[in-house]
Amino acid sequence: MELCPKCKTQLRIRQPRMVVEGDKSPDTPTTVYLVQEQFCANPHCVEYKQTVDEIKHLLYAEKDDSHDH
Ligand SMILES: [Zn+2]
Repeated sequence: MELCPKCKTQLRIRQPRMVVEGDKSPDTPTTVYLVQEQFCANPHCVEYKQTVDEIKHLLYAEKDDSHDH
């Protein structure tokens, strides 16, 4: 668990969200991440409720072996 750089309070983790990259173009392999934003829960801190850091978990990566240039 990481600490807030401003107040050194342990960061809290928001509800994770799914992020999909590369699904707009057939030339880029599709990658799916689960992103967990970490925020400061100290009301006296300037970073209160601000996202300080985020953890990316790779869920799915499409293999890009369809192009043999
Ligand atoms: Zn803080």
